[in-house]
Amino acid sequence: MKNAVSIKLIQCAKTFANGAQALQPIELEIHPGETVVLLGPSGCGKTTTLRLIAGLEFPDAGGQILFGGEDVTDLPIEKRGVGMVFQNYALFPNMTVGENIAYGLKIRKMPAAERLEKIDALLEMVQLQGLGQRRIDQLSGGQKQRVALARALAVEPKVLLLDEPLTALDAKLRETLRADLNQLLRKLGITAIYVTHDQSEAMALGDRVVVMERGKIAQIGSPRDIYYRPASHFVADFIGTMNRVTGIAGDGRLRFGGGQLPCDTSSVGLRATLMFRPEDVEVVADSMGAADMQGEILSTFFLGDRTRLLVDVGAEQAVVVDTGRGASWQVGERIALRVPEHALLHFQDEVVA
Ligand code: ATP
Repeated sequence: MKNAVSIKLIQCAKTFANGAQALQPIELEIHPGETVVLLGPSGCGKTTTLRLIAGLEFPDAGGQILFGGEDVTDLPIEKRGVGMVFQNYALFPNMTVGENIAYGLKIRKMPAAERLEKIDALLEMVQLQGLGQRRIDQLSGGQKQRVALARALAVEPKVLLLDEPLTALDAKLRETLRADLNQLLRKLGITAIYVTHDQSEAMALGDRVVVMERGKIAQIGSPRDIYYRPASHFVADFIGTMNRVTGIAGDGRLRFGGGQLPCDTSSVGLRATLMFRPEDVEVVADSMGAADMQGEILSTFFLGDRTRLLVDVGAEQAVVVDTGRGASWQVGERIALRVPEHALLHFQDEVVA
């Protein structure tokens, strides 16, 4: 989009009237045309951050918000040029689809003929051609959310803000809408901020993902960065499935019940934890001596494209292992596993004595 703007949050904190500090001072820079996803567990401050950007809330004294370099900190929502889409659609139930979409245009006194043309173009954009005359209560949840999106885009906002827009929809529909939204955001090139607690949604939609934890930013990065190079235990645990194995460190190894793994730490004799992804674990032939650990299969889960195993590796620890489609495994079977060194994550600062 020609007019895509950057957004900058400088030392933005938020304390509510009841004294609850929803946000610690955060710094965030969003590039023009970028889709940034705010991701984190319930109560971490995602919606508060979005509402600050929208102008529905204002930061504590000292915080500053810039749109394209312009200070909008004190501007209310209607002066910021933002479009918003909410989880619960927030449509006008007594109006038709077309009237909902054109609501903002009417307020802006766009002539009727022009409005109709615009409604048609927007309906096409969100794949609801021909539904302009329908009443809102005659639409499915997915269609309602498409109308909400069209309404938000009708006024050609500088920034599109989406607060859990797909959460109310069933899984299949969510996936379809997610793909359509992804395409649309790329095509429009609009600066977009998307709030979700669903990590697969975040990975699929975000150019960058901001992982939040208790009112702070835990990590900002591309989906790949966040997945493969999580900055902390919290991020590692929150995104995807992550194994953790705890043992005693020494001589470049971490020793635990069912084996040992490479562990580069100076904390000799102390307890340390290594993390790794299920898909990075290799099943090896025991006789080759290539195994890092041995264990017994506790459960198997056929997932279609792969089989997931839960393996007891001793010392009351179990690891999740993803194996290919062809393999078939039995509960109770012994198995030898290896984890390549590059796949092991070790957070030095969180070593406990
Ligand atoms: P969720 O996914 O549940 O919506 P969230 O990450 O969006 O969570 P926020 O809604 O931003 O979290 O809330 C962050 C914290 O601020 C929470 O502890 C919440 O209870 C508190 N909070 C939010 N809005 C208000 C308010 N208007 N008054 C007081 N406290 C609030």
